[in-house]
Amino acid sequence: MNWEWFPTFGCSTSNRRIPHEPVFFGKRPGKAFSSTDQVMETNGTGGYVVKHSGACLCGRVRFEVDGVFESFYLCHCERCRKDTGSAHAANLFSASARLRWLSGEGCIRTFDFNSTGHVRSFCTVCGSALPNVQMDGALLVVPAGSLDTDVPIQPQGHIYCSRKANWDTALEAVPRFEELPEEE
Ligand SMILES: [Zn+2]
Ligand SMILES: [Zn+2]
Repeated sequence: MNWEWFPTFGCSTSNRRIPHEPVFFGKRPGKAFSSTDQVMETNGTGGYVVKHSGACLCGRVRFEVDGVFESFYLCHCERCRKDTGSAHAANLFSASARLRWLSGEGCIRTFDFNSTGHVRSFCTVCGSALPNVQMDGALLVVPAGSLDTDVPIQPQGHIYCSRKANWDTALEAVPRFEELPEEE
């Protein structure tokens, strides 16, 4: 596929282009996708369709994505931090997959930040991030956390690390708990 036009990863803090090859987790088709949640179907022409599904937190909006995600980036820019309320966005991108709303389409609102290219779709009831289609339909952007099925590829990189939050340092060294910390 042509990555020349792939400019901003949905965060658009600059127009810097980052050409790269799609990276798949394992080989495709066949054993690339180990999740039992994912459904692979033949499309009648010897090809295959990978189905992903997701929903918002309140459950009103449900969707399916048919196809393969070509890339996956974690963006630490200030827009993505405001957008998500977290250290970084985690967005999957596809130029070929198709998005289908199963329910709740009337609850979806899309915020286009001053036409900067930073676009956020969300459920108007619960606020959860939802997929959207950008660049005149050329690019599907899916917040990884909105999926209920396993994500079949690993993030390819942290981007805009130069703009990360001041507390976003050495997080791998922070103590981890399976659930809540034990009470003292
Ligand atoms: Zn960003
Ligand atoms: Zn919702």
